[in-house]
Amino acid sequence: TVTTGRGVLSISCAATADSPPADEETFEYQAEVTRLMDLIVNSLYSSKEIFLRELVSNASDALDKVRFESLTSSDEVGDTSNIEIKIKCDAEAKTLVIEDNGIGMTKEELVDSLGTIARSGTAKFMEALKERNEDSNLIGQFGVGFYSSFLVADKVTVASKSYKEDGTWQWESAMGTSSYTIREAEDPLERGTRITLYLKEEAEEFATPSRITGLVKTYSEFISFPIKVWSSES
Ligand code: ADP
Ligand code: MG
Repeated sequence: TVTTGRGVLSISCAATADSPPADEETFEYQAEVTRLMDLIVNSLYSSKEIFLRELVSNASDALDKVRFESLTSSDEVGDTSNIEIKIKCDAEAKTLVIEDNGIGMTKEELVDSLGTIARSGTAKFMEALKERNEDSNLIGQFGVGFYSSFLVADKVTVASKSYKEDGTWQWESAMGTSSYTIREAEDPLERGTRITLYLKEEAEEFATPSRITGLVKTYSEFISFPIKVWSSES
C-alpha cells in the first residue's frame, strides 16, 4: 500500500543520511601523532585555554604566508587586501569556529600537516613533557600546535582551500580515534582555513564571546592581523 511504501522510503533515506559521502577517505595517523595527542590531553588539561593561542598563531602564520606569496604570484593567489582572522562562538551549537583567509591547504597538505609529525620541535616537546609532567613553562617554550584542539573539543573539522587547487577539502577527526577522514567540503571557502571545534561538555565556556575576547587579549596581543570575534546571538 501507499503507507507501507512511504515507510520503506523513509527508512532508506535515513540509511543514506547515516552512511559517509561517497568521496570520503579514511587515513590512519602516524603513531607519533596519536602519542602526542594522548600526551597533550593528559598533561595539559589544566591549561586547556592554550588551544586558542595555538590556533590563532597558525591562522596568523597562514596570513603571513599568503601575503608573502602574493608578492610573487598575486594573480593566482587572489585578493590579500582584507586578510583577517574570524572567531565565531555558538553557545547553542556548542561550537567554536576559527577561520582565516590565508594560504589554505591542498588535500595533500592536509594529510602531511594534520596526520604526521614533520616538525623537530614537536619531538623535543614530547621528550620534555615526559620528563617534567605538566610544567606550565614548557607550554611557553614549545608550541604544542594544532592537536591542542583536542584539549577542548571531542570532534574537530578543518575545511581548507588553497589557491593551488580547485576544491575545498574537509579533514575530520575525533578524540580517542587513531584515524581521520578527508572529503570534499559541503561549505566551500574562497581561500583559507575554517576550523570547527565541537566543544566537550566541560569546555563549553569557550563558546562564550567574553571568554574568547579575554583570551585573545591575553594570548594574541602581538598578532599583527585583525581578529574579529563573533557570536551567534548578536
Ligand atoms: P606548527 O605551527 O608549529 O607548524 P601546528 O601543529 O600548529 O605546528 O600546525 C601544523 C601544520 O599545519 C602547520 O605547519 C601548517 O602547515 C598547517 N596548518 C595548521 N593550521 C593552518 C592554517 N590555519 N592554515 C594553513 N595551514 C595550517
Ligand atoms: Mg602552530
